[in-house]
Amino acid sequence: MSVFLYPKTKLTRKLRPRRFKRYQSYKRFLQTEFSRLCVYCRFPDTRGPSSIYAVDHYRPKANPRFTALTNDYFNLFYCCAACNSWKGNYWPDDEKSGPYIPNPCDHEMAAHIVFDKATGEVKAMSPWGEYTRDYLHLNDRGMVEFRRTTMHAIKLCTEEEIRLSSRVTKAKTKLRRGEIDRDRYEKVMLLIESQQETNRSYLQELLGTKPLEAIPASKGGLPMFAP
Ligand SMILES: [Zn+2]
Repeated sequence: MSVFLYPKTKLTRKLRPRRFKRYQSYKRFLQTEFSRLCVYCRFPDTRGPSSIYAVDHYRPKANPRFTALTNDYFNLFYCCAACNSWKGNYWPDDEKSGPYIPNPCDHEMAAHIVFDKATGEVKAMSPWGEYTRDYLHLNDRGMVEFRRTTMHAIKLCTEEEIRLSSRVTKAKTKLRRGEIDRDRYEKVMLLIESQQETNRSYLQELLGTKPLEAIPASKGGLPMFAP
């Protein structure tokens, strides 16, 4: 289980937001579509304010050829401020050979870049991956340290979850054997449940799986899922 693992298959978008005049209005949809992760470095927005996440124009809006795609949902991606800034207006001069910066809808990401759990770095699996790793500074020291710390914290929280489950089992056994009365059992269980809740919340934050609130109707209506 790792938040940083790049998908092996292409992602098909499930949301069909209505057309907005401002591309920024799609951000909330993109956040849901891409599971709160920057599509390029996979850092979750649950580890900081999502306000620093941006709407990336895969085909840059500053390129006159792509002006018509400025508000096209399928050209927009959820992206952290760092990747958005490094990527800028990048588009390959040679469209046939690239290099392209892979995105999860058009490319199998893991064919180009993979996450190395042992080092916390990303490894290039193709020339495009190599280009992306360097162009987006994916192995900058701060990025690598962040991944390593996150992985360590996920491991600790996972171990804590196992430890708490084992305490639940022990408490149940003690009650069954008459070693503690129901009153004591309920107090112990309340304490464990509260610790479990806190621990799960930490894990959701680390993994980027904290549930998002539904998109309000006033912000463009509920997302319509593709059939
Ligand atoms: Zn990023």
